[in-house]
Amino acid sequence: LNRRLAGMGTTIFAEMSALATATGSINLGQGFPDTDGPRSIAEAAADAVLGGRGNQYPPGPGIPELRQAVADHQQHFYGLEYDPDTEVLVTAGATEAIAAALLALLEPGDEVIAFEPFYDSYAACIAMAGATRVPLTLRQPDFRPDLDELRALVTPRTRLILLNTPHNPTGTVLHPDELRTIAQLAVEHDLLVITDEVYEHLVFATGHHPIAALPGMRERTVSISSAGKTFSFTGWKVGWVTATAPLVAAVRTAKQYLTYVSAGPFQYAVAQALRLPDSYFDTLRADLLRKRDLLCEGLTDAGFQVFRPEGTYFITTDITPLGEKDGLAFCRALPERCGVVAIPNSVFYDDIEAGRPLVRFTFCKQDDVLNEAVARLRRL
Ligand code: PMP
Ligand code: GLN
Repeated sequence: LNRRLAGMGTTIFAEMSALATATGSINLGQGFPDTDGPRSIAEAAADAVLGGRGNQYPPGPGIPELRQAVADHQQHFYGLEYDPDTEVLVTAGATEAIAAALLALLEPGDEVIAFEPFYDSYAACIAMAGATRVPLTLRQPDFRPDLDELRALVTPRTRLILLNTPHNPTGTVLHPDELRTIAQLAVEHDLLVITDEVYEHLVFATGHHPIAALPGMRERTVSISSAGKTFSFTGWKVGWVTATAPLVAAVRTAKQYLTYVSAGPFQYAVAQALRLPDSYFDTLRADLLRKRDLLCEGLTDAGFQVFRPEGTYFITTDITPLGEKDGLAFCRALPERCGVVAIPNSVFYDDIEAGRPLVRFTFCKQDDVLNEAVARLRRL
């Protein structure tokens, strides 16, 4: 393993999901639902396979039906206009979009400002691009960015700001005033913004606001999302990028040599999913809101300090009130102690101390699974 990837051996998600399987534990670690998305969408994927649509290499930028559906979705929900022919790119999940965007847009030595805790692929992809990550730490209890601190982090080497809203793992959703300040900073210093919005439809209070919609931002923003979370098919790995034609062309260049294209039949199904009625998105949100509160209450009863998230399907907790100090040790022992798996937030920090007592639980599980997990955690 080269120096750039040193210390990044196995992702925490693989480690903890393997532990869940090995111990037969309830897995509230890796974020994937235990109920698949709409049957009509699964049937669309099956129909595409059986009907011979997408079984051979689809077009590099993605099938036209999906690019059109992505453009229409951006228009419908946010009033953002993108040309499906030149300003939309389909990727193998948001993961590939993030990798391709960073590899395409960064020069070695560039600095990337990103919120810490970071989703784990950010650090790895910034490193693979030979760039340097510059963390802006989100601190408890509210995990909001200190925008004066952000301003102070900008240097002549800063190339881009990597945003994630709603934010994994804290659940922070950037508010319009925060986005405006970040946008002004980007314009002032001529920075690019890559924004990871995979949880765009999992927002419980204030609504999701894409930074690309703000003045001066369309031309400097690469917006990324994917079907995994919104449609509860995380295994399909269909993601997308929307940006101006030159930015999309740059990202496409990198994408061509990473995967060339993404799985064909699922693209037909996701094109259909993006056209589900608004009631689909409302129901998804309402169900998850209820589950959020169920698990927040359960974890509070079990003695955790709970930070109620505004978005995503993750709850960050502090284990200090349980007499625990170290989230990584706690998560490694938890399956043996009570048959539950969670994710230690410290792995998403450079500043390990800021994340040490924090542990993340997902609530995208059936109610009885959440209730059973809580019953087990209460016996700790
Ligand atoms: N970004 C964030 C913040 C995530 O939590 C995830 C996990 N779904 C991804 C990107 C990756 O998304 P995908 O599964 O579409 O590659
Ligand atoms: N995004 C999901 C999470 O944060 C899973 C990602 C993964 O397994 N790489 O849990």
